[in-house]
Amino acid sequence: GPVIVWFRDDLRVADHPALHAALARHRPIVAVFVFDEESPGVRPLGGAARWWLHQSLRSLSATLERLGGRLILRRGAAAAIMAQIVDETDAAAVFWNRRYGEAERMIDTAIKAELRGRGVDTHSFAGSLLFEPWTVQTGQGGSYSVFTPFWRSCTAGPPPRAPYPAPTSIAGSTGENATEGLASDNLNDWGLEPSAPDWAAGLRAAWTPGEANAQERLEHFLAEALPRYAAERDEPAQNATSRLSPYLRWGEISPHQIWAATQRAQRGLSGPALTSATRFLTELGWREFAYHVLFHAPELATTNLRPAFDAFPWPPVDERALAAWKKGRTGFALVDAGMRELWRTGSMHNRVRMVTASFLIKNMLVDWREGERWFWDTLVDADAASNPFGWQWVAGSGADAAPYFRIFNPELQAAKFDPHQQYIREYVPEYGTDAYPAPLVDLGETRRAALAAYDRVKAQS
Ligand code: FAD
Repeated sequence: GPVIVWFRDDLRVADHPALHAALARHRPIVAVFVFDEESPGVRPLGGAARWWLHQSLRSLSATLERLGGRLILRRGAAAAIMAQIVDETDAAAVFWNRRYGEAERMIDTAIKAELRGRGVDTHSFAGSLLFEPWTVQTGQGGSYSVFTPFWRSCTAGPPPRAPYPAPTSIAGSTGENATEGLASDNLNDWGLEPSAPDWAAGLRAAWTPGEANAQERLEHFLAEALPRYAAERDEPAQNATSRLSPYLRWGEISPHQIWAATQRAQRGLSGPALTSATRFLTELGWREFAYHVLFHAPELATTNLRPAFDAFPWPPVDERALAAWKKGRTGFALVDAGMRELWRTGSMHNRVRMVTASFLIKNMLVDWREGERWFWDTLVDADAASNPFGWQWVAGSGADAAPYFRIFNPELQAAKFDPHQQYIREYVPEYGTDAYPAPLVDLGETRRAALAAYDRVKAQS
């Protein structure tokens, strides 16, 4: 029988360990994607992520067809669907790259057991992380809760494997077409793309998903921005970061490919430019760390990692104020620019993510989980590890987090990181006119109130 390759967060064909291993079997390949909103515990995708997924699947389908294959699309609970496809194809094996969330791991483990019971060979591979979470251990054999020793431990060991090349064909040598007669959903019926109202125009203008575009973006970044990354990565108007995060989220590019290409690019560099390359790879390390934390604390999106924060006295949510934050109408220009960038393009610069999150949590006294949910719905890179990790980092409740009492002042942050107001003017054109909203809060007063509320947490620690 054929080998099924189950695509999930790895919508690419190059450096795809499961596909690579499947091809080595010299059997016909059945490529499958399951849109699963039914299995217990799976967090439904946000709107922006659904839009991205639609484009990404279209792109992967086209790539697989060019290689002589076909992507079978099915919708439903993964366990039932995979059993069905195994029956329909009489598959000998099912291969996939691993996922790291708890619900996803439970689904995969159950499917593995079920298929093995039926004599179907199953194999999982490391495709999305440079360092599998359970392989990085402290001297005592535990997990890391602080980034620096975590990353030191990762980088002290053998370097990440080299990426696998892209296959030139997946049709197989047998000439047998394993997907003939196999039913596939029409992607357009999944409702991933908005129709009316079409809120995705800004996303479309800002992004072109797909594996080829991810590679192009990487090459462009390495050539144009890598040498100045360390100096300019905090300035949202400088275009000094890679903007690879949504491609990484869906695995249109692998961290191994980024790692290898950056190693190649840094060979010619010295001084600050070389420091930049190291800094960029360290940011990939933060992504690894967020997954390490998620693996060991699966409740990351809902639960304070530092339980003392459960005592934080969040006042009742002021819905009008929350709406002003979401819409970018707080009267603080850098916060508003960030929130409007997010709404329009599905993304936000990292520095501004920190400022907008700090403002919500510490100047508006809104529980970080509210903000996490909004980002989850609106970010094209919304990620089960990095998003809650980032929010808990800003809140001070997370692993290796910023201390709570470090409260960003959005005006000082704007003066420092957007000194010519280029970024602000791009997203808040009415800034400085009467049309611009008055400040929603008093920075000094809210800061004092936040610190007073934090005393309750301190009393628990
Ligand atoms: P670059 O600077 O080019 O970095 C390269 C890659 O390293 C990124 O693509 C990303 O994969 C990784 N990376 C960089 N910084 C971080 C970081 N702080 N934490 C984890 N990984 C990092 N990132 C997401 O991918 N998805 C999210 O949902 C997400 N939510 C966030 C929420 C908050 C409140 C904060 C403060 C940060 C969040 N981040 C998230 C991290 C970071 O803001 C983005 O990864 C980054 O802005 C993406 O831009 P880039 O690809 O140009 O990054």
